[in-house]
Amino acid sequence: MYQTVKGTYDVLPDQYEKRKRLKDLFKDVIECYGYRLMETPVFEYAGVFQKENDTSDMVTKEMYTFSPNEKDVLTLRPEGTAGVIRSVVQNKLYGNNELPLKLGYIGEMFRHERPQKGRQRQFTQCGIENIGDKSPIIDAEIIALAYNFIDMAGLENVKVLINTLGDNESRVAYTKALKEYFTPLKDQLCFDCQNRLEKNPLRILDCKVDHELDIIKNAPKMSDYLTDSAKAYFEKVKAYLDACGIPYIVDDKLVRGLDYYTDTVFELVSTSENAGAQSTVLAGGRYDNLVKEMGGPELSGIGFACGLERLTMMVEEENEMTNLDLPCDFYIIDMSKGSDYAFKVSEVLRRNLFNVDLNVYDRSMKAQFKSADRRNAKNIIIIGEDEVNNSSLTIKNSETKEQVTIKFEELDAYLESLGE
Ligand code: ATP
Ligand code: MG
Repeated sequence: MYQTVKGTYDVLPDQYEKRKRLKDLFKDVIECYGYRLMETPVFEYAGVFQKENDTSDMVTKEMYTFSPNEKDVLTLRPEGTAGVIRSVVQNKLYGNNELPLKLGYIGEMFRHERPQKGRQRQFTQCGIENIGDKSPIIDAEIIALAYNFIDMAGLENVKVLINTLGDNESRVAYTKALKEYFTPLKDQLCFDCQNRLEKNPLRILDCKVDHELDIIKNAPKMSDYLTDSAKAYFEKVKAYLDACGIPYIVDDKLVRGLDYYTDTVFELVSTSENAGAQSTVLAGGRYDNLVKEMGGPELSGIGFACGLERLTMMVEEENEMTNLDLPCDFYIIDMSKGSDYAFKVSEVLRRNLFNVDLNVYDRSMKAQFKSADRRNAKNIIIIGEDEVNNSSLTIKNSETKEQVTIKFEELDAYLESLGE
């Protein structure tokens, strides 16, 4: 017997409904802020994700990269931002649209990491990208959007962590300071961090292995290396958040798992005990250099991605998310012994977008009534031999117990009258 591949899961109907409600909410919320959804392919040329000297775990260890022929090296997308930027550059979206571009996506991502609770090899991200402008008000607006979405999804135990990585100049100074600080302590770092020390020492602060070490806790702080303008920018972001009452905590160890971030970075983290190590539900930040690196003009951008599975799980744990059974508008009880009349009636109902359940077995009237009851049918239609012979049907409203008998030809008009 076949099983799902390790780290992948079926989405069964109950779960599908819950996910859909959150996806719909995401779309509604981002639209209020002027974002529109788009889609990019699930696989891209590997270069879209793989930048020179990249040190993130995602790029160095977790990508599903394959070659279907001798020429192409392709990667199943591990995240959404790179594909969206690739598309923006390829389609020159910045040329004929008002800036900033406001784009959103919902899609499957693939990372080869160790499956755990809240960590899968195929998972879904809902994300947005705001490209083409740089202003503290945009950063604050995006953090507010993220907070409002998570709040409306029903998650209460959540905190907003923010930090700044500064502009390019601040990063150069800070990177130098970290290198000087960690070089004599190199032996105490894990194998990966020894490598990060050469390529991108900032990443050491984000290490999942070393994060409890005192040498990490006592490392130089970003805030001491920010340029005046980077500092002023971050102060303004915070002031805008204060103005709209979004609670946040400044966490100067927050550097985020991807290499391309600059200035503002943020995470929404569950404070519930159940969340365990996978407590970050949404994460994002600004990227000053990515559009240019991808071959586009020098445009700054900012975005975030939310893990839909983590969000669904956290919402479920905090409050009972009721399973939505499909509503049943009409249950047709068929006692006509094999005529096609009940089927004909059901088709008219369904073409009018009513939800219909129809008995397809030869069962007793009592058994069929029981099913109608179990399905919470709003209306019950009984079809017997008489109804077949004179092309009529009797419809009974389960709640009011009112009952009408109509001709088959009158059914469309009757259904229309229901909508009024
Ligand atoms: P982590 O530190 O948990 O590995 P990350 O920094 O790799 O997270 P991002 O790339 O920023 O995560 O992705 C944003 C969000 O996507 C995460 O906060 C999380 O909710 C979700 N996510 C990331 N990886 C996975 C995964 N393997 N399974 C499920 N959700 C994931
Ligand atoms: Mg990760």
